Amino acid sequence: MLLLYITAAFISLILGFPRRIPIGGIFDSDEMIQRAFKISIKAVNKNITASENAMGVLLTSRTEKINKNAFRVAKIACKLVNSRIAGIFGPQDKLTANYVQSMCDTLDIPYIAARWDSKSKHSNGINLYPHPNMLSTVFHDLIKEYKWQKYAILYDNTDGLIRISRLLKLPGGCTISAMAFHLGSGPNFRQTIKEVKISDYRNIIIDCSHDILSSVLKQAQQVGILSEKYRVIVTSLDLQTLDLEPYQYSGVNLTGVRLINPQSPIVQRILQSRSLNWNLTNGSHLKVEPALAYDAVQLFASGYARLRDSVEGNLKKLFCNGTEVWGHGSSLSNYMRNEQINGLSGMIKFDTAGFRTEFQLDIVHLGYQGLRKIGTWETNVGIQWDPRHRIPEVNDEKSLRDKHFLVMISLTEPYGMLKQSISITVGNDRYEGFAIDIIQEMSKILGFNYTFEVQADNVYGSLNKTTGQWNGMLGRIIAGTADLAITDLTITAERQNAVDFTSPFMNLGISVLYRKPTAVRLSLLSFLGPFSVDVWVHLIVAYIVVSMLLFVIGKLCPTEWTNPYPCIREPEVLETPFTLMDTPFFVIGALLKGSTGFAPVGISTRTLTVSWWFFNLIIGSTYVANLAAALATKSVAWPFQKAENLAYQQKIKYGAKKNGSTLSFFKDSSHEAYNIMYSYMMDHADEVLIEKIEDGVRKVQQENYAYLIESTSIEYIKQRKCNVTQVGGLLDAKSYGIAMKKDAPYRTDFSGAILKLQENGIINELQYKWWKQKRGGNECEEKIKVQVKALNFEDVSGVFLIMISGVMLSWLFAGWSFLWNVRNLATRYKVSYKDQIVEELKFLAKCSSKKMVKKKRDISRDD
Ligand code: GLU
Repeated sequence: MLLLYITAAFISLILGFPRRIPIGGIFDSDEMIQRAFKISIKAVNKNITASENAMGVLLTSRTEKINKNAFRVAKIACKLVNSRIAGIFGPQDKLTANYVQSMCDTLDIPYIAARWDSKSKHSNGINLYPHPNMLSTVFHDLIKEYKWQKYAILYDNTDGLIRISRLLKLPGGCTISAMAFHLGSGPNFRQTIKEVKISDYRNIIIDCSHDILSSVLKQAQQVGILSEKYRVIVTSLDLQTLDLEPYQYSGVNLTGVRLINPQSPIVQRILQSRSLNWNLTNGSHLKVEPALAYDAVQLFASGYARLRDSVEGNLKKLFCNGTEVWGHGSSLSNYMRNEQINGLSGMIKFDTAGFRTEFQLDIVHLGYQGLRKIGTWETNVGIQWDPRHRIPEVNDEKSLRDKHFLVMISLTEPYGMLKQSISITVGNDRYEGFAIDIIQEMSKILGFNYTFEVQADNVYGSLNKTTGQWNGMLGRIIAGTADLAITDLTITAERQNAVDFTSPFMNLGISVLYRKPTAVRLSLLSFLGPFSVDVWVHLIVAYIVVSMLLFVIGKLCPTEWTNPYPCIREPEVLETPFTLMDTPFFVIGALLKGSTGFAPVGISTRTLTVSWWFFNLIIGSTYVANLAAALATKSVAWPFQKAENLAYQQKIKYGAKKNGSTLSFFKDSSHEAYNIMYSYMMDHADEVLIEKIEDGVRKVQQENYAYLIESTSIEYIKQRKCNVTQVGGLLDAKSYGIAMKKDAPYRTDFSGAILKLQENGIINELQYKWWKQKRGGNECEEKIKVQVKALNFEDVSGVFLIMISGVMLSWLFAGWSFLWNVRNLATRYKVSYKDQIVEELKFLAKCSSKKMVKKKRDISRDD
């Protein structure tokens, strides 16, 4: 009995499905599909699966590459079924895919596809690509939502024609007029697109393969149908993978759909999984077919897990021309069809025919911010618009193309200036400058036309509180006699109540422009400047200590005691040059690079002297270097440090631009100093308020006048007038914007264009051009100033340390030579060491520079 049981278990083990189940893949030239297939197998094997069933399933892949070669595909498919596989994925090409599918049907092997296919049934397989009928329902629903009565369809092949056939005959007795245009074989599709344009179709559906979609869109833009007059629907599910930036500012109302939502958490989790290594910079670059290849493997793993759990069986080696079939293929297909998993392409569910059902598509719209999701489409539900992003009705009022604007400018450098040209210029050509360039760049983006008009009195706009009237450029805009105003026009709360501003294009604050202060004369004691007081004190202490030490060592060292009269062989006295008077003189001589006529001869005295000389060398050089720098850069005297200092003095006159936002700042400020300044400026209005920046700068240069002006203008002036500069920091923070009538319909478009110019760096480039490069920019590049600072003790302490080491070394030598001399004398005169040391020390204490030489007879007498 037991034997029977063991045999049965062994047979079932042999006959059971293998631990690693092989899945075949046949691929065309698209590398990414094959890559996604392999990544998905890796994910299953690592238990990163879309379904819990598939946990623990292990897959191996048998992949082959064909290149649409029908003969090769027959050979490859036969080879795969021959190698015991449980399913085949691919290929994408229609002809070869049909061959593989019919072979799979014959041999009862599940066939898994992820390609556009118009067949109405899969006998033994599944297709993850939404069925064309479903897709045409999506576009059909969109057309109904958009209420298109007349539209053109651009298609590129017979598949496209099948896809769009439903769109050509909308049901329900709708009175529509739709016309299909064949794009031709390419690469030039312009002729067909032009025909659409001439036929006056404003609603266009573009249905073409992803391979040519990019050039079709480009040529459509060239022909002019990607503009705000047109509404376009693109049927490709891969629209989001294209670079759409060139069209996002064209104003075209372009709608598309997508199956993959790069923002969905599951897509992000799978794409960002490190172990899967997708190598994709952005989720929106993932095309539909690779994503479906990934999902196909996940589905296969999940279906296989169910098969394995419910039946016992094994894989079979099959032959294309044989009669044997696998026998489990239809069961596995059925398990896969009954699975429901959440993959890269959303919810995956199948109908009985093996096609996707109940899937969801995102509806996307191309606008200034790029491709944005505006709604969803679901089987059985239809379109649901996102309330925030509902596609706007095309409103020709808001359209900027072909619009003409009267733009107010001022002749204020560098915002608007008369062009310096030898030829006669007319119209807009008469002007150049930062603001002129900004308008030009914006018109390139938005497509409007414009005429510049100079504000003759240079008044930007302020409110007359008694009459309630605005003057200047803003007055013109409010009265409706001008559309836009651009210059160094500051956005203020008061102005914002009367007009609308675009997003700011420049940030700034108020500061003071004043002439550069004169240099301070050097004081009589400025030669002491290079060193701080503590260095001078340390230097004096070092001098005194070294003098004293040299004096003592000079006495201790026997070799310094020399015969003053060399012709007397046996002198009675010896002398040392290190006397109380000469030693300090010798030490200071070294410090001041003088000479004293004697030099040390003993090792200890020389060691001390050398370390002192070295110390002097470094200290002297440091002093000279710092003094030279101090003389070259003289410090300056500022008559005031910041704007508010002006309020409390009488000597310097100050003012701002008449009717400008700077003057308003002082008027509205609650700061006491600024109120004083405002009263002063109003009391002396004729004398201190100016109309044009140039007048203010001239006043600064010629008079004792401080000009309260915006930092952007100071930057510009500083580059060109070298004798003026900014004093103090910024008093506030504000910005410049383009003014237009309140609630103008195009204000968001203008703001969008300004933001775009900022993001592209164009505003920065223009700023560099007009501030630094044109009309004498960079004239007064500030030289790098060497700020001389007195050296403190830490800066030179290393040199002191070296000298102290020299002192210690000299003491060692001095002690050693002194004791050696004592030993020699004690031996020679036969006295004890102790007596000799006491005698020598007593002599030292006398500080005498003359030493009596001991005679032998003195010694005998002593004895
Ligand atoms: N930007 C100022 C304005 O918009 C003009 C210059 C000034 O007041 O300093 O009024």
